[in-house]
Amino acid sequence: MKVAKRFRWEGAHRLPWHEGRCRDLHGHSYEMFVEVEGEPDAQGMLIDFKHLKRALAPVVDEWDHATVVAENDTKLLNIMKESGWRHVVIPYDTTAENICVFFADHLVNEHRDLLEARKIHTVRVRIAETETCYAEVARSLSD
Ligand SMILES: [Zn+2]
Repeated sequence: MKVAKRFRWEGAHRLPWHEGRCRDLHGHSYEMFVEVEGEPDAQGMLIDFKHLKRALAPVVDEWDHATVVAENDTKLLNIMKESGWRHVVIPYDTTAENICVFFADHLVNEHRDLLEARKIHTVRVRIAETETCYAEVARSLSD
């Protein structure tokens, strides 16, 4: 059985090495589906949606209306720091693929107890930057 919860936020980013428009600072209305897979309990519930919300909403709130900056993008990082503009730093480039990894790892690493208590064995995170494309990563709790 799988259940999923959707999260949305507005954010800016850039990919300094990109040959097209993604090189420059720009924004997306990010949409994220967090899907968990496992066996429902005797009452027929896999996980209470509010527990998924509690696990991820604080992080989504930090990211909302912020610029997500790759740790090695010192040019952008310096601008953000000097200006005092709202930003979050991640240890890799800010592709949709890597943002999937960030949220999947956060859920598995910081909320493993919740997932294990609900007998969830797999987590998938899908990130859409636009209406027509998405990236998705799966994490097994047994890894
Ligand atoms: Zn983009």
